[in-house]
Amino acid sequence: MPAPSTATRKRVVLLGATGSIGESTLRVIAAHPDKLELVGIAARSNWQRLATIARQFGVTHIGLHDEAAFADARAHSEAFLPGSQIVGGLTGLIDLARLPAADIVLVAVVGTTGLEPALAALAAGKDLALASKEILVLAGKFIMAAAKRHGAKLLPVDSEHNAVFQCLEGHPQAGVRRIVLTASGGAFRDWPLERFASITPADALKHPNWAMGPKITVDSATLANKGLELIEAQCLFGLEATQCTAVIHPQSIVHCLVEFTDGTMLAQLSPPSMTFPIQHALLHPRRAPGVETALDFSRAFGLEFAPVDEGRFPMLRLARETMLAGGIAPAIYNAANELAVEAFLAGRIPFLAIPRVVEQTLGNIKNFEPADLPAVLALDAEARQVAAGHIATVA
Ligand code: NDP
Ligand code: MG
Repeated sequence: MPAPSTATRKRVVLLGATGSIGESTLRVIAAHPDKLELVGIAARSNWQRLATIARQFGVTHIGLHDEAAFADARAHSEAFLPGSQIVGGLTGLIDLARLPAADIVLVAVVGTTGLEPALAALAAGKDLALASKEILVLAGKFIMAAAKRHGAKLLPVDSEHNAVFQCLEGHPQAGVRRIVLTASGGAFRDWPLERFASITPADALKHPNWAMGPKITVDSATLANKGLELIEAQCLFGLEATQCTAVIHPQSIVHCLVEFTDGTMLAQLSPPSMTFPIQHALLHPRRAPGVETALDFSRAFGLEFAPVDEGRFPMLRLARETMLAGGIAPAIYNAANELAVEAFLAGRIPFLAIPRVVEQTLGNIKNFEPADLPAVLALDAEARQVAAGHIATVA
């Protein structure tokens, strides 16, 4: 059989290759060797897994954010392919993001570490597939401006946003009344508030529908994930805060609904697997057979929808308030949440303290409109310091 033509293959750099999104992305790339080629991979510290991926996919550009892991990987260069280039630290991730051999960069690093690499990719004219919602919440306006300035494509990977993107394609923005993001409801969807005080990290890490990394799984349990996603949607699609809403949908099959001014709604449906939005983003605008089976209508199944109970899930109320406030409020929400989740997972604060830490941090920092990226980064550092102070008083 002739080897697949490389002429039309998109060359992919994957930041966060060892995580949950990373693994799903590898499945998509492995299924489409004629359309996709992996040319660069990065993680925080798991160099052993990176070495395995590199050998499997023939990748010679490797990045490790953690300096000690970078040194370890260099000391074990025989684990990688001959001639491999291993880079370290944030500058290493930035170099990978602008790799001349790449067409598209998928950022799937937990938290905000991916911000500067994402901006570097856009500045180098690469398309950006974005899973890391935190970076849009922190600095969305600068990312959107960079994409526009450099004429780069920004493709949402987060399932709800990928769904909105698909429903909006070909529809003028003026005809959109609102978008509705669906939420599974997380691990405590049906728990009464009285039980929330006893929630442990192990409880919060049991997600009913999705297998994901620990931070986003806890965010799903508090509904901060949906809060971050509403902010992300506002920024990605240029909507007003009041046009972005959420609804509980326990089956996680409908990923969004877009309501037009005439009352018509379009929805996007697929089984709850990230391979669907990842493949859509990487192959866009082309389509190809998915790596998993589509919905099966030969058996009966139901789709339910219910309003969100903000009394039990104050992280959603706080997200809406930050969207209405604008300025740096969403960035404070994100930073305080990240620290509070870390402290909860480490057993230092209870579950119910997560929204308290976020609300207190929001109350302690005066809102303003940041003029540039350094102002956003300084604010992010300040918010983390303030949140750490609140966490210390709870712990
Ligand atoms: P995981 O915890 O499973 O994986 C995180 C990945 O990021 C790992 O490869 C990890 O490397 C790497 N990483 C973590 N910190 C750093 C750092 N400082 N520098 C470089 N690499 C780092 O997370 P997920 O895959 O679940 O999530 C990734 C992102 O995608 C998050 O922003 C999340 O919100 C978003 N997302 C995830 C979804 C999902 O279904 N999982 C759905 C929608 C969005 P190492 O293994 O070495 O630690
Ligand atoms: Mg999502």
